[in-house]
Amino acid sequence: MSCLFCQIAAHEIHSKIKYEDDDFIAFDDIHPKAKIHILLIPKKHIHSVAALEDSDVNLVGKLILKARDIAKEQGIDLSGFRLVFNSGPDAGQIVDHLHLHIIGGEKL
Ligand code: AMP
Ligand code: ZN
Repeated sequence: MSCLFCQIAAHEIHSKIKYEDDDFIAFDDIHPKAKIHILLIPKKHIHSVAALEDSDVNLVGKLILKARDIAKEQGIDLSGFRLVFNSGPDAGQIVDHLHLHIIGGEKL
């Protein structure tokens, strides 16, 4: 298995896990851009937003709702936070496994 985030999802590479269930895992970004910078990923390997299929609608909906829950757990739901998907080279996607950045905890 060569995908970094698949390896994190399988606990083969250590990460600071913030949330986990059967379908998703969230962990601290190793190079945080703000006081709170968490990556939320589906355990299923999907390359990017561009690679999503219509049948992934349920998974993507749950991903956004889970990001909402994590923001609340982190106490940044009212102060505000940014959700970012980078898709493809021009956006600066460096890990080719779908991930949602949850960024906040300070003025961005
Ligand atoms: P992106 O540019 O959207 O592909 O973002 C990938 C993110 O993954 C970057 O913010 C990196 O800092 C982060 N990252 C890379 N390797 C790790 C790792 N082993 N653990 C946690 N975050 C990582
Ligand atoms: Zn993967």
